[in-house]
Amino acid sequence: MKNFDLIVVGGGPGGIFAAITAAEKGFKVALLEKNKRIGNKILVAGSGKCNLTHVGKPKDFLDKYGESGKFLKEALNKFSPDKLREFFAENGLSLVLVEESGKFFPSTFSSVDVVSLLRTKLTKLNVQIVENFKIEEILKVNDEFHIVSDKEEYRAKNVLLATGGKSYPGIGTTGDGYIFAKNLGHKIVPPQPALAPIFVKEYKFEELSGISFQDVKIIFWKENKKLIEKMGSILLTHTNFSGPGILDNSRYVESGTYMEINYIGLDCEGFNKNIIESINTDGKKTVKKYLLKYMLPERFVKKILTISEISEDLKLSELSKIKRENLARMLTSNKMEISKVGNFEMAMVTKGGVSLEEINSKTMESKKVRGLYFAGEILDIDGDTGGYNIQGACSMGVLASKSMGK
Ligand SMILES: Cc1cc2nc3c(=O)[nH]c(=O)nc-3n(C[C@H](O)[C@H](O)[C@H](O)COP(=O)(O)OP(=O)(O)OC[C@H]3O[C@@H](n4cnc5c(N)ncnc54)[C@H](O)[C@@H]3O)c2cc1C
Repeated sequence: MKNFDLIVVGGGPGGIFAAITAAEKGFKVALLEKNKRIGNKILVAGSGKCNLTHVGKPKDFLDKYGESGKFLKEALNKFSPDKLREFFAENGLSLVLVEESGKFFPSTFSSVDVVSLLRTKLTKLNVQIVENFKIEEILKVNDEFHIVSDKEEYRAKNVLLATGGKSYPGIGTTGDGYIFAKNLGHKIVPPQPALAPIFVKEYKFEELSGISFQDVKIIFWKENKKLIEKMGSILLTHTNFSGPGILDNSRYVESGTYMEINYIGLDCEGFNKNIIESINTDGKKTVKKYLLKYMLPERFVKKILTISEISEDLKLSELSKIKRENLARMLTSNKMEISKVGNFEMAMVTKGGVSLEEINSKTMESKKVRGLYFAGEILDIDGDTGGYNIQGACSMGVLASKSMGK
């Protein structure tokens, strides 16, 4: 049996930053990880380049976590994006800003360097890293937690659960933390995939995979009621819509809701007005050439013409009213029924998890079980793409450890 001041369960960014912060204040800390190595999610983050945080102050971050953003106010103030960047710079890996996206990456653009730095830091601070550790159960006995495994038993006054969500189960995040939390008396909001691609019925762009659109208007509908309207970038893939504008909003939709994309920045009426003007003044121009003036990719224009049964050499003057109106709808306000949101294998994060109602946002401690803390994706909070999830997990981990007593 081994005794600690803090046992952190889960070696992702939330758990690692909690372990570092507690060790820095003199706690004896163990970090338990079920995989062979800590930091698996960090390794895949940002396609291996690791987008650690975003440009902006804590207050600019709050609306990037759906309706739960204010829960993170204290955590982001305690460990802000600036502090995260300072941490890495002080430990020998500065972060660089990619201006167009506002994302910060390590200067080497390598997740491996991030994990290696964090492991070195944990080791220097004498955090006991226990990998390949399979927990059987977590019990609270009097004022002590017992972490029972098939090998050894670990005990501590404080436990921090940072086991992540259910997305990308192949790399270790299979929702174990929900079971531990539930057994300790916590309510779990049903987990669902988020930051996931969106599939629509009768998807028509299979062969346009790789084409993207910057800053288009995307509207989501539920039974004729507008759920949300956002500007964002989209990517067409072989089977679905993806890209930041889709991923970030996938948390709001489900099968049976509708998605509308405006590819040209003009509403239906505006498009009709403009094309009618051109029909009158420039009727010999082909419809295809006319559409290209909206800076649309040529392959996309050809596909839209095919779907609308308009031949590529059809002149503006030959375009019927029905086909013109259909074209206007396709480009500005075509409502597509959502068949599903990508599953946990595809989703980058998990929506749902340990209910925030039962967690003190000023300390990250459970309101139900003294000494039990949470950080990261295990909680019912998920951020947009762009570094918000890693920043959120790190900030929660730091706040938890700063708040803990021995
Ligand atoms: C492909 C992909 C790309 C991403 N890119 C980015 C990005 O660029 N920027 C960004 O901000 N976010 C990104 N994210 C999201 C981000 O990685 C996560 O939100 C973040 O890592 C969550 O941190 P966490 O500490 O809560 O948990 P995780 O990083 O999920 O770590 C949880 C850890 O707990 C361990 N664990 C689980 N169960 C147990 C158990 N029973 N016992 C012991 N250990 C256990 C897991 O093995 C895992 O190591 C990406 C996610 C994916 C899937």
